[in-house]
Amino acid sequence: MKCYNCSIEKHREGAQYCYSCGCKLDEPNLCTNQECTNSKVENALPDNFAYCDRCGSKSSFLVKKYVKENDLPF
Ligand SMILES: [Zn+2]
Ligand SMILES: [Zn+2]
Repeated sequence: MKCYNCSIEKHREGAQYCYSCGCKLDEPNLCTNQECTNSKVENALPDNFAYCDRCGSKSSFLVKKYVKENDLPF
């Protein structure tokens, strides 16, 4: 399991939070548009998505700076 925030790995089995920076480990990347189906945990976006591919709203990982806009390939 890899930390979204600091990219550190080797967390212990069942770890909920990063031992290095304290952020939550199993957090889903959700659309910030509450109207969008991708804002639901069961429709979470892939970890590297900065924007929702359904409605174009920011992803929760972009808001928290876990991903950067310029990580995208275009
Ligand atoms: Zn971390
Ligand atoms: Zn959306």
